[in-house]
Amino acid sequence: MNKPQSWEARADEFSMYGFTDLPSVHERGAVIVTHGEGPYVHDVNGKRYLDANSGLWNMVAGFDHKGLAEAAKAQYDRFPGYHAFFGRMSDQTVMLSEKLVEVSPFPRGKVFYTNSGSEANDTMVKMLWFLHGSEGNPKRRKILTRWNAYHGVTAVSASMTGKPYNEVFGLPLDGFIHLTCPHYWRFGEEGESEDQFTQRLARELEETIQREGADTIAGFFAEPVMGAGGVIPPSRGYFQAVQPVLKKYGIPLISDEVICGFGRTGNTWGCETFGFVPDAIISSKNLTAGLFPMGAVILGPELADRLQAAVEKIEEFPHGFTASGHPVGCAIALKAIDVVMNEGLAENVRQLAPRMEAGLQAIMDRSEHIGELRGIGFMWALEAVKDKATKTPFDGSLSVSERIANTCTDLGLICRPLGQSIVLCPPFILTKEQMDEMFDKLEQALNKVF
Ligand code: PLP
Repeated sequence: MNKPQSWEARADEFSMYGFTDLPSVHERGAVIVTHGEGPYVHDVNGKRYLDANSGLWNMVAGFDHKGLAEAAKAQYDRFPGYHAFFGRMSDQTVMLSEKLVEVSPFPRGKVFYTNSGSEANDTMVKMLWFLHGSEGNPKRRKILTRWNAYHGVTAVSASMTGKPYNEVFGLPLDGFIHLTCPHYWRFGEEGESEDQFTQRLARELEETIQREGADTIAGFFAEPVMGAGGVIPPSRGYFQAVQPVLKKYGIPLISDEVICGFGRTGNTWGCETFGFVPDAIISSKNLTAGLFPMGAVILGPELADRLQAAVEKIEEFPHGFTASGHPVGCAIALKAIDVVMNEGLAENVRQLAPRMEAGLQAIMDRSEHIGELRGIGFMWALEAVKDKATKTPFDGSLSVSERIANTCTDLGLICRPLGQSIVLCPPFILTKEQMDEMFDKLEQALNKVF
């Protein structure tokens, strides 16, 4: 086999890139990462980057956390194997489920494990279909989500996702209904206050339920803050307005906390930050601080009881992944929860969030082309616009956010272009000095591009 010489060319030749702008990567080559320390990663050419993307939102404890690596090693040393299903479960799985219910907003509940956030959302949908069917409501199959939501890439979770790029797969599947994205700055109408906007969205939800028939709807899924949609916190009072509507029609509210869970918004859960208690939580990413592919469905008491009753009837829940509840993943998750909640990481997010907001606000104020700053905790986005007054977006084949992110990469800062926005979601261990480095490199990049 003839191998090209450079790492970048080898990557290009033999690997397919997911979610990557190909013109950029063909022109520049991929960044091939070898190792890291704290919030920094290094590439094969010896260049160091401050990763303001936390890997993919998930490397919240940084890239060399010894305690997490030791927890993984200790479990491999204790038992380099595992058992699941058919009446067997690992001791680590038992302990993690206890812990997850303990730290959940629920007084009691039950946990089911997957390998990813997408699979956890898929699993939740199957649970809802199963329990509604078992309760004599087999028509309750439609899923409500929002435009710009991101819930994953499997056929079901991609159908829940509200992004136009899924059209290339012929998705969404039938029965996945997308409601208005609760982004007031972009979708609020002329003269409409934020509260009126929220009320309009609650009315849209109720009208949709009535039009489709409440007896055809299985559940409503929402991220507390939309992440991959471009860091979109809900409009004021959003969950307080939609939850009573859902309750009125017996529709469970599922909080997709794959990004928001475990500290990203400053609290354990995004739903806590936005003042609502859902019927179930979807967790992944931060759950293992990025060190193991793992997802979890955490059912609150009502759904747990109803699902249990459904399962008892047929004596088995016919669902699960080979590595569901893998003990190494569970051991890492137990440690990660401890690190984030008890070693000051979530506290650091709470402490430094106002500083991050102020620094980004100052950058926005100095820029002619940043139209909006939005976010909370350690998840923020700056939206680029051609014209601040009219909010007109830039056009062009290579989006302006892509050019800003590429320029940041050149300067040694990793951040993510999302639509017309630049997203900054650094690891929770970020210090004030590292935050200043992030501001400085970002502003340099903006000055070069605009
Ligand atoms: N849900 C949300 C809110 C996410 O942000 C993501 C991934 O970014 C997912 C689900 C899918 O998770 P995974 O990529 O682990 O399948």
